[in-house]
Amino acid sequence: FSSEPSLQADSTEEIGFKGHGMLAPFTAGWQSTDVHPLVIDRSEGAYVYDINGKKYIDALAGLWCTALGGSEPRLVKAATEQLNKLPFYHSFWNRTTKPSLDLANDVLNMFTAREMGKVFFANSGSEANDSQVKLVWYYNNALGRPKKKKFIARSKSYHGSTLISASLSGLPALHQKFDLPAPFVLHTDCPHYWRFHLPDETEEEFSTRLANNLENLILKEGPETIAAFIAEPVMGAGGVILPPKTYFEKIQAVLKKYDVLLIADEVITAFGRLGTMFGCDMYNIQPDLVSVAKALSSAYMPIAAILVSPEIADVVHSQSSKLGSFAHGFTYSGHPVACAVAIEALKIYKERNITEHVNKIAPRFQEGIKAFSGSPIVGEVGLVQYLVPSVRSVVCLSGSLGITSCCHLH
Ligand code: PLP
Repeated sequence: FSSEPSLQADSTEEIGFKGHGMLAPFTAGWQSTDVHPLVIDRSEGAYVYDINGKKYIDALAGLWCTALGGSEPRLVKAATEQLNKLPFYHSFWNRTTKPSLDLANDVLNMFTAREMGKVFFANSGSEANDSQVKLVWYYNNALGRPKKKKFIARSKSYHGSTLISASLSGLPALHQKFDLPAPFVLHTDCPHYWRFHLPDETEEEFSTRLANNLENLILKEGPETIAAFIAEPVMGAGGVILPPKTYFEKIQAVLKKYDVLLIADEVITAFGRLGTMFGCDMYNIQPDLVSVAKALSSAYMPIAAILVSPEIADVVHSQSSKLGSFAHGFTYSGHPVACAVAIEALKIYKERNITEHVNKIAPRFQEGIKAFSGSPIVGEVGLVQYLVPSVRSVVCLSGSLGITSCCHLH
């Protein structure tokens, strides 16, 4: 997210992409108009082809999202059928479409770490996390605790790039020059044991120290002001950082003690990426709210969702006559084509038993990446027993120069 020069393709100049008019997201400066962008033209499984026909392994699975690869005919069929039948209808004012109702049920049934009550649809992970903040504020207003509004997130986290989700994120590049984070967001420690542990500190001791720091922050601010804590089960954009042993157990105990809600940002980790259907299953996390996106539709259509606990859903429901409607939503919340694609993607994950597949290929993958551990520029190789996503795998190489790279393979 810093100032890496943009990828420059070999020969797109002659077909007129130099000096193009697009302002590219997360691209160094506005240089993108001066250099030739790498223009991807088509995809096939785990491969993409540029405009000149050159083939690449899509090692990042798009942006950690095309979990079923780039040419799954069933997703194309689901989109086409829905486009032919009903390309759009909204979900405002108690009107909706069957695909959005069906998908809400499918997502609720799939999430088993604890019972969830309702699903709200958005179009991106950033929108989902913004919606979480507004929902939590509405909830605390409904409960008559207007002071309980602050959020705690973690250094190096990534929760999106809208004003609120960038504020929650813990990456300096998202804050500097944007006057962020917003004042209601506080940041606590990044749980990267390898980088931040003290000499002789075990993983468990490191987790205890971080949980104590969280507790001290809550006490310093006043528990009556802290609404929620947001965390990715495995931190993604901040460097593929795995929680140290006992971390979530200890963090959750602190949150419970001070009545602070837990939001699991599963935008990357949901739907098999870690070898369990959700990151919450892997780390025994019982969240009050969950954000999902990306693999929800294998990225064939933009869609995100937040899962809401029955307790929060009940409060919002019972108080809305007093507070007025939950006046939040997007034209494309529950877009029927995106929902139809997502329903099919979830069906495929189940039919192909994606988590079993991941656990089968994980040991071989781990063997392979161990080979990097002898290199002088590699500080840590991500050797979690299951750190392998649905049909792709994650490598985490945190170099001693501070370089972190991740790659996803078939
Ligand atoms: N949360 C996490 C954990 C993410 O990794 C991302 C994107 O990578 C987001 C939220 C933001 O999602 P989007 O880019 O769809 O807004």
